[in-house]
Amino acid sequence: MREEIQAHNSILELIGNTPLIRLSNITAKMKGNYFAKVEAFNPGHSTKDRIALYIIEQAEKKGILKPGDTIIETTSGNTGFSIAMVSIIKGYNCILAVSSKSSNDKISMLKTMGAKVYVCPAHVSADDPRSYYQVAKRLHEETKGSVYINQYFNELNIDAHYETTGPEIWNQTNGKITHLVACSGTGGTISGTARFLKEQNPDIKVIGIDAFGSVLQKYHQTGEFDANEIYPYRIEGLGKNLIPTATDFNCIDEFIKVTDESSAHTARELAGKEGLFVGYTSGAAMQGLKQLDEVNTFSSESNIVVIFPDHGSRYMSKIYNDEWMSQQGFFDAKTEDLVAIEYI
Ligand code: PMP
Repeated sequence: MREEIQAHNSILELIGNTPLIRLSNITAKMKGNYFAKVEAFNPGHSTKDRIALYIIEQAEKKGILKPGDTIIETTSGNTGFSIAMVSIIKGYNCILAVSSKSSNDKISMLKTMGAKVYVCPAHVSADDPRSYYQVAKRLHEETKGSVYINQYFNELNIDAHYETTGPEIWNQTNGKITHLVACSGTGGTISGTARFLKEQNPDIKVIGIDAFGSVLQKYHQTGEFDANEIYPYRIEGLGKNLIPTATDFNCIDEFIKVTDESSAHTARELAGKEGLFVGYTSGAAMQGLKQLDEVNTFSSESNIVVIFPDHGSRYMSKIYNDEWMSQQGFFDAKTEDLVAIEYI
C-alpha cells in the first residue's frame, strides 16, 4: 500500500488561519484579556497575503486575468511581496510602484520575488505625477493585459477580510470578543473584519490605530479632509494622506493616534516580553492598547483582539537597529536595557 504524502500543493494553501496568541506579560498591569492575531504566520509574513490571493482569484473568476498577464500595484512593501508571491505560483508578471520610505530590505525582497520595482518619492502629494499612485496608474495604462489591484480604492480589499479574518476571529474567540483593535492604512483589514464581527454582535467595539501626520482620525470625527493634519512620519503602512474608499468609517467606533517613538519602543517590548518579533505597526497597535487602557476603555471582562499585521524581520534596518533608533532620537544608550552584546 502506498503511503499518503502529507504536503501542500503550493505555499498559497497556507494563507490565512493565523493563530490567536494570548498576551500575558506586556499586559500584566492592564485591565482585560488580550489576544493577538499574529499575521506574520502567513507564508508571506503579513496580512496582505489574504488580499493578494483574494483579489487575484476574484479577477480570475471574472475572466479578467489569464496566465502571462501583468499585475500592477502601489505598495509600502507587504502587499507587493504578497502579490509577487501569488504571481509566481499562478504565472503572472508583477510590477510594483513603491514609496521611497520603504526599507531597502523590502525593496530587495520584492526584486528577489521576481517583481519589477519602481521607487517613487514619498513626500509628494498623491496627485503628483511622481507619486506611486500616479506611476502605477500610468504603467497600467501603458501595459497591455494588465490588472491594477488599487488596494486603497478596491472594495475587494474589505471583502477579503470579511470572508477570512473576521470569521476566524469570531470562531477563535467563540464569539466572546468584546473589542477589536487594528491599524488602519488602506482600512481593508479593520473594515472587513469589523463588518463581519459587528454583523454577529453589534456591541463589539472597534478601535482604529492612526499615526500623527495622518488624516484618518480627524476625517472620522468631522467628515472633512483636513490637509493641516498631514506631515511626514516614520511608521510604514499606518495612517494616510488621503481618504481610501477601502475604509468603511461606519464600522469603526473611534480612532486613536500613536507616535513613531512610542510605537518603536513598544515593538521592541513585544519581542522582549512576549517573544513576538513583529513589525513596526504591531508595535503601534500594542501602543494603542496601552493608551486605551490608560483611559479605562476596558474592564476585567473585556476580551480584546488586536491584529499584528507583519513580521519584525522586515524592520532590521529600522526599529530593530540601534543606530537607526539613535538617529531618530528614540534611543538613549544610558537608559536602554536591551543592549546585551559582549564582544569576545
Ligand atoms: N501594517 C502594515 C505593516 C501594513 O503594510 C499595512 C498596509 N498598508 C497595515 C498595517 C494596514 O492594513 P490595512 O491596509 O488593511 O489598513
